[in-house]
Amino acid sequence: MVAHADWSALRESETARILAACTRCGRCAEVCPMMPYAEGAAGVSAATLVEGVLEVLSGGEGGAGARGWISVCTRSGVCNAACPEAVNPRLMLRLAKWRANETGVLPKRDASEAMARVKAFARLGFSEREQEEWL
Ligand code: SF4
Repeated sequence: MVAHADWSALRESETARILAACTRCGRCAEVCPMMPYAEGAAGVSAATLVEGVLEVLSGGEGGAGARGWISVCTRSGVCNAACPEAVNPRLMLRLAKWRANETGVLPKRDASEAMARVKAFARLGFSEREQEEWL
């Protein structure tokens, strides 16, 4: 119980810190290696993408590009090294994703295909007998 309360307080204080510290310079978006895979982000300025992420973090919808960026973040941390304000944009995106899942602006992950993928990978390492028994 205490841990949950601590986590919620930490999350809220980090959210407030990030919203206040970020200057919307866009460096984190410019250097992100996942940006080419972010749906809706092509042609959107880095500053606008960051503004959208902060909007999602605040409980809003953000733009499609910002949501696309949040969705594809793999936590590389390249953004953290580029941020001149020590905002921790990796955490910014992570917290924005949590908020987006809560507010429903990002669709919940569809896990219906997950088992088929697990089986496909398992076949690579299992003998035929093991596959018959376990898959
Ligand atoms: S998180 Fe850092 S790099 Fe990204 S826009 Fe804000 S200040 Fe700039």
